[in-house]
Amino acid sequence: MARRPEIAIPKIASAKVASAKTASAKIAKPRTAEPRIARTVPALRRSVAQWREAGETIALVPTMGALHRGHISLVRLARRRADRVVVSIFVNPAQFAPTEDFSTYPRTFESDVALLAREQVDLVWAPQSVAVMYPEGFATRIVPQGPATADLEDRFRPDFFQGVATVVAKLFTQTMPDSAVFGEKDYQQLKVVTRMARDLDLPLRVIGAPTVREADGLALSSRNVYLSAQERAQAPLLHRVLALCARKIAKGRPIATILSEGREVIERAGFVLDYLEARHAETLAPVASIKDGPVRLLVAARLGKTRLIDNVGLK
Ligand code: AMP
Repeated sequence: MARRPEIAIPKIASAKVASAKTASAKIAKPRTAEPRIARTVPALRRSVAQWREAGETIALVPTMGALHRGHISLVRLARRRADRVVVSIFVNPAQFAPTEDFSTYPRTFESDVALLAREQVDLVWAPQSVAVMYPEGFATRIVPQGPATADLEDRFRPDFFQGVATVVAKLFTQTMPDSAVFGEKDYQQLKVVTRMARDLDLPLRVIGAPTVREADGLALSSRNVYLSAQERAQAPLLHRVLALCARKIAKGRPIATILSEGREVIERAGFVLDYLEARHAETLAPVASIKDGPVRLLVAARLGKTRLIDNVGLK
């Protein structure tokens, strides 16, 4: 495929042009068939400035690419919330530990853009290199506390939320969106980002979107491609255990007992369990009983070389 210029001029679908000629000013703006692609911060800012001048609202969906239906559900939610949708695609080295999969993380840019074109995304913000985000001399980091130190993901990935908060703060200040959509799939991340936006008085709304699952319950993830056929068959057990524990806890059974049974089932099935925890859905503080507030169950476990995370609320 031909190399894309720094910023691609949108093509206008012919049907839309035809109707724009005949219809009145009711047609607010032509829909682009292909998103613009910004490769540098100034290119991104030029597009955003045009839309702002026209009085349009903007929603941002941050991703690391390798897009699947989960990401697309976020894009659709963003589409309903704003006039313009920006999707960022950046595999952020700052949130990977040296032992993690930064170099092998799936990168499928061309098919990602094709998917986003179908969703009528207005702009893909895809920094052309890591140096665009972290130039020589870069020396600032956001160090989130509160939900970022809840002893869940942070216990196993100590620098992860610093990396996430720093890149998300940059994406926010680069794009200046009115809203940003994040998946509940990464529940602790959603809480960290929400807290950060509030703490830094960033003038945007962080919106959480429900987890999209395969028919057998496995939460969609770009990393599911790492699963062997046998692991893929085992993987839905995590969600089954979560859902069962949630039902029992909601009925009033003791949280500690139910979780210890759940942990045993997960480990017996061959997973290496990092955690299965019940937490307050907002603060992520430990909860001893359903009377302690809205409860969220969160799990992380490794199956072979793939680390899976998932969570559910109590109904
Ligand atoms: P990622 O590309 O994995 O960094 O994810 C980008 C965004 O998509 C994050 O806000 C994730 O929480 C969200 N996301 C990932 N998987 C899913 C899913 N299965 N359902 C809903 N949102 C998801």
